[in-house]
Amino acid sequence: MKIEKILFATDFSEGSAAALPYAADIARQYGAKLYLVHVVYDITKATGWYVPHVAVGEIYDEIEKSARAEIGKIDPVELRGLKDVGQVILKGTPYEEIIKFAEDNKVDLIVLGTHGRKGIDRVLFGSTAEQILRNAPCPVLSVRLQPEK
Ligand code: AMP
Repeated sequence: MKIEKILFATDFSEGSAAALPYAADIARQYGAKLYLVHVVYDITKATGWYVPHVAVGEIYDEIEKSARAEIGKIDPVELRGLKDVGQVILKGTPYEEIIKFAEDNKVDLIVLGTHGRKGIDRVLFGSTAEQILRNAPCPVLSVRLQPEK
């Protein structure tokens, strides 16, 4: 089995945080590169009608900035001993962008939370985990957050 590149998909939820130790551990064991990937939703795709880009451009810049800050806050203890960690912010529909990134970069394994944020995202886009599990070009490890005992 070849595992040289691992994609950890994070929406910064507790659910995705539960999957990080698995992604990091496997990366350590295989000496693999670990991509920490977040996708900023593209609202214009969800509306289905024209939204002036001047109106949303600045908002995206801010969202992207805060997404970079969030990725930067990922616990360094979890990432200790990893030789190569990449931080990636993409824009679009999360499952599409994650699958495309995995294809383009020949990712060997995707690690994600079984659950992420709920609410409006789910209504607009459906389950990211399910779409990735069904359509990914490589194996997918889905980690469920254990309920508190
Ligand atoms: P969901 O299917 O939306 O409940 O999310 C399940 C998992 O997919 C999350 O725990 C994350 O690992 C991943 N995920 C969801 N949304 C995003 C996103 N915008 N960017 C990166 N990963 C995501």
